[in-house]
Amino acid sequence: RGSARTRTRFAPSPSGDLHVGAVRTALYSWAWARHCGGSFVVRIEDTDRSRVSPEAVTGAIDALRWLGLDWDEGPDVGGEFGPYRQSERLSLYREWVDRFLADGTAYHCYCSQEELDGERDEQRTKGLPTGYAGHCRELTTAQVTAYRREGRRPVVRFRMPEGSTVVRDTIRGEIVFDHANVPDFVVQRSDGYPLYNLAVSVDDAMMRITHIVRGDDLLASTPRQIAIHAAMGVAEADLPVYTHTPDILTADGSPLSSWRQAAGISWYRHHGYLPEAVVNYLALLGWSPGGDREELTLDALVESFDLERVGATAGRLDPRKLDAINGDK
Ligand code: GLU
Ligand code: ZN
Repeated sequence: RGSARTRTRFAPSPSGDLHVGAVRTALYSWAWARHCGGSFVVRIEDTDRSRVSPEAVTGAIDALRWLGLDWDEGPDVGGEFGPYRQSERLSLYREWVDRFLADGTAYHCYCSQEELDGERDEQRTKGLPTGYAGHCRELTTAQVTAYRREGRRPVVRFRMPEGSTVVRDTIRGEIVFDHANVPDFVVQRSDGYPLYNLAVSVDDAMMRITHIVRGDDLLASTPRQIAIHAAMGVAEADLPVYTHTPDILTADGSPLSSWRQAAGISWYRHHGYLPEAVVNYLALLGWSPGGDREELTLDALVESFDLERVGATAGRLDPRKLDAINGDK
């Protein structure tokens, strides 16, 4: 349940126009924080320099402002709260990786891409589950020296402990992941940059995020992130509550991305849709205040929003309904 200590976040990867499905998760996170009298933070996931575009960063921030999804804290940018940016928090991620290396929670992996590919091919031909089998878990000093002499630069891998993880999800209930199916994963690249699972978990834990709403394509990453929280010393009772939402579909049931431009928020913004109409419409795609209300002000949304009632069925975006709501605003 929520309280004034409720903290939610939206963590977009700025590689293109903000996807309407991502906007909906931002909206639910924001509405839950507002409903509880808690806080909402925005955190730009911009550590993968090959994928980030500066226009996408500004585009995401502008879109949130346009929609009225305001955030409560962040670094000072010209007297206003800017969103957090992971690219400004690199030393924090590095500190945690160093700690994990020091206490054995993580280790250096010297395997080359060819070797990893070879391992996967072999697992496939043998009919085994594919994934890193732990080659570098217990390297001897002599092996490490030999690798270094070859000029290999290691990545850092997180050592998945034995056992299983229970993910508590408000839509799906408890989902058990057997760690036999969760291989050790890379948390830091050979050039020292952190990868998604590490950065997102460090941030969620350090920022004391209580509720995470995001697309269900990330469900498989959740046991990895929970393992990082545990390694950071987060108690089980303090783990965030997860809500993994199904992706929005088009009216005929195909993925929204098949609509290309209209899958991104800018299209609506530049085709005469009012932000209130878009927010109203997206909020009701997968959640309902009860009854069959289709018109909702932002205040009414905040008042009646309940994260536990976000549903399991993928909403279908119906432009005619959106047009009707837009016309009424
Ligand atoms: N940056 C991720 C994405 O845009 C979401 C991260 C998260 O919510 O955990 O898919
Ligand atoms: Zn290795």
